[in-house]
Amino acid sequence: MSRPLTLITGGTRGIGAAIARRLASDGHDLVLGFTRDEGAAARTRAEMEDLGARCRVVRADVTTDAGIDTLFAAADPARLTGVVNNAGATLHIGPLVDTPVEVIRTVIDLNLTAAVLVARRAVSQLPEDGVLVNISSGAATTGSPGEYVHYAAAKAGVDALTKGLAIEAAARGIRVIGVAPGTIETDIHADAGDPGRPARVAAAHPLGRAGRPEEVAGVVAFALSPDASYAAGATIRVTGGR
Ligand code: NDP
Repeated sequence: MSRPLTLITGGTRGIGAAIARRLASDGHDLVLGFTRDEGAAARTRAEMEDLGARCRVVRADVTTDAGIDTLFAAADPARLTGVVNNAGATLHIGPLVDTPVEVIRTVIDLNLTAAVLVARRAVSQLPEDGVLVNISSGAATTGSPGEYVHYAAAKAGVDALTKGLAIEAAARGIRVIGVAPGTIETDIHADAGDPGRPARVAAAHPLGRAGRPEEVAGVVAFALSPDASYAAGATIRVTGGR
């Protein structure tokens, strides 16, 4: 049997890179998208190859049609078995009224519009038995008041995407599953101007800590595996119970 081939948007840093690492260890080959950080892309590809995976890294901005085309063109259509819709950003922390309009548009464009368009492409390119995993957020449920209402609204859209598309894609034998992390230690917080967020969340968390990227990766690996064959349409929360 040939090795599974999984495409991950935003696959060279943070949670995406942890998913790549886990899947490479599980025997997947990979296509990983990135936009800015060429150094991280090169390091991640070398790491995947050390783990025995064939790995292509592709500069592909998923907020553009050309970026989505480029990314999917890098994945052999005869071999693609899974897609992880992971690229995302919050970009700003604070109440919605203080969040610049341009930031709101950019965040919704990346976290919702691009996610819908990547999902659309994924279900048209995946074979029967293929799996699409949409990375949502615990914020989709809480609304994240005072912090990221703009982002929470986009991620709530991703949850609806997972539910609706799971039913449409089921007719073609494709499974769509969501994974909703809580606060995970990645650069996303510093990039929003709030590097202290994981420590702050840890102090009030039932487990006394924020999550680690590999703790999300394990659940994504499960979602992609046949063990999750009847979990279509679900969004699995990985929030440490918070
Ligand atoms: P990071 O900031 O660490 O990584 C974001 C990734 O998205 C990078 O690989 C980045 O690529 C990529 N990316 C950003 N913009 C684009 C774009 N326009 N086109 C393609 N790729 C892009 O974030 P996380 O790893 O924390 O986040 C991963 C996912 O998990 C996101 O969907 C996020 O919303 C979600 N999430 C994260 C949580 C957390 O606490 N960390 C909590 C809940 C959900 P590049 O390296 O080129 O910049």
